[in-house]
Amino acid sequence: MLGYLLGRSGLDVLVLEKHADFLRDFRGDTIHPSTLELVGELGLLRDFLRCPHQRLERLKMVIEGNAVTIADFSRLRVTCPYVAFMPQWDFLNFVAEQGAAYPGFNLKKNSQALGLLTRAGRIVGVRVLTAAGEIQVEADLVVAADGRHSILREQSGLPLREIGAPLDVVWLRLKKSTHADPELFGHFGQGGLLITVDRGDYWQCAYIIPKGGFEHLKVQGLNAFKGCLVSLKPSLADDIDDLRSWDSCFLLTVAVNRLQRWWRPGLLCIGDAAHAMSPVGGVGINLAIQDAVAAANILVPGLAAGQGIDHLCARVQRRRELPVGLTQAWQVFVQKRILGHVLVNSGVVPGPLRFLRKLPMLQLILGRLVGLGVRPEHIRIRETGAG
Ligand SMILES: Cc1cc2nc3c(=O)[nH]c(=O)nc-3n(C[C@H](O)[C@H](O)[C@H](O)COP(=O)(O)OP(=O)(O)OC[C@H]3O[C@@H](n4cnc5c(N)ncnc54)[C@H](O)[C@@H]3O)c2cc1C
Repeated sequence: MLGYLLGRSGLDVLVLEKHADFLRDFRGDTIHPSTLELVGELGLLRDFLRCPHQRLERLKMVIEGNAVTIADFSRLRVTCPYVAFMPQWDFLNFVAEQGAAYPGFNLKKNSQALGLLTRAGRIVGVRVLTAAGEIQVEADLVVAADGRHSILREQSGLPLREIGAPLDVVWLRLKKSTHADPELFGHFGQGGLLITVDRGDYWQCAYIIPKGGFEHLKVQGLNAFKGCLVSLKPSLADDIDDLRSWDSCFLLTVAVNRLQRWWRPGLLCIGDAAHAMSPVGGVGINLAIQDAVAAANILVPGLAAGQGIDHLCARVQRRRELPVGLTQAWQVFVQKRILGHVLVNSGVVPGPLRFLRKLPMLQLILGRLVGLGVRPEHIRIRETGAG
């Protein structure tokens, strides 16, 4: 996204992607109202919404047999008051296709950054493994947007603060044979907490387990696990046999952390590389995009005005660390007070969820917090890079 925005503004940018395409393991498909708003500001919304997706206006959870709205997006004052579910590869392909219109935007797939090039204490580029062998790419600024296991961040030596999480998540898909309310998202009961996302012809399911508990779950056996999922969401009874082995279950080891300093001379970290988010609220993609927009808003006019690149990187951190810190703070609250409670006291409704039932106003506040986030960014740079 940052590559696209810089290319659109007439800067020369090279995006390196280690894979041959954007197809990858599932890691969330949520495009929140804040991102849809940005797509609209870029003038791309009509084309974007032509890509296949599902829409969700509310998130509901079954608590003691009753459906309770957790977050309501429908009353947000935005162009698209809903979460769109779209595979990440479709989203990334869309952004890359838009970028291709700008001569300054270059995307090189099959190109893995191996390490940083340093000269006199400054990062001046990266070593890259390509199909033709290893090459060196020099740049005025290297942006590490290489995810939660960022090799560039690791090599930079920037200090990372681990915040931690008491849980992990088991992800799986089940084919969907019956119609069910797509807004019914969370299923809470004796067996714990199950999230199901309606993806048209299948359910994307997330089952919360205690940290490190996957092996224990496996020891209890696949049938016990299947029974547990059906007890939480009885309508899965017709679909559960689609789960044939543990190989179809993908473990997300939940990490919550953030860099204390997001940059050093010549290098800026954004997205998961700067701050791995908890899956609570499914906001990681959107925060990464907000970082990209903030970085472009600061870098483009700053560079045009001849300001120093390191000073601009420091401004990006100052702009983004508050929204990231506050988001992680409420995620950690939910992890401890709701999810942690569910894991320890199976079947007992956590206090904050009871509160939610009594105060419908909270559903709107959560809709805003999840859907728009803290201090949402807007596109402030003009398109000047068209060929
Ligand atoms: C199972 C799972 C479910 C999730 N569900 C959600 C959800 O529902 N909603 C949500 O908002 N977030 C979700 N997340 C989090 C979300 O995926 C991340 O927060 C988001 O993708 C971060 O974006 P990013 O661009 O910083 O990093 P990434 O999306 O991780 O992108 C990094 C990119 O860099 C490439 N790369 C890595 N190393 C190199 C290298 N050395 N050289 C070249 N390229 C490299 C990778 O191939 C990748 O394309 C989920 C994560 C997981 C693991």
